[in-house]
Amino acid sequence: MPESAKENELLPCRYCGGSEILFEENDYGHFSWGCRSCGSGGPIVRDKEVAHLASFAERELTAKTMAAERWNRRIEKDFPAARRFSKQMPTECPWFAFVDPEEPDRWIVGWMDTNHIREEGGSSYRHNDPLLTWWIPLPLVSALNSGG
Ligand SMILES: [Zn+2]
Repeated sequence: MPESAKENELLPCRYCGGSEILFEENDYGHFSWGCRSCGSGGPIVRDKEVAHLASFAERELTAKTMAAERWNRRIEKDFPAARRFSKQMPTECPWFAFVDPEEPDRWIVGWMDTNHIREEGGSSYRHNDPLLTWWIPLPLVSALNSGG
């Protein structure tokens, strides 16, 4: 598959089914694909993820490809219990796992307070932080232990 074809492999928007998907770089150095019809976008690629590449053209191409892989990812297929922060907040789960905004290939354990999603001993993110993508409820250990 030639590099140039990768842009054309974007899946339709997971929310509205729109097929006009545009590449964006915002002022924070975040790259992402977004839907022109409904405005939903991401997950983002941060500039520091491609900072090791020498030329701007290389950084942009790599960011496009990485962002396309993330846009095309359908976490809900692999993890039917996964929910989008933008659709539903983990209000009823004392603990949950969420996709690490710093490292979008892994889950981290978090909890929520009035204004933030927090990583135990780590970063915190405002509820409307666009870096927050997916979360998944965690079962309580007490439920596992009660079997005797
Ligand atoms: Zn859309």
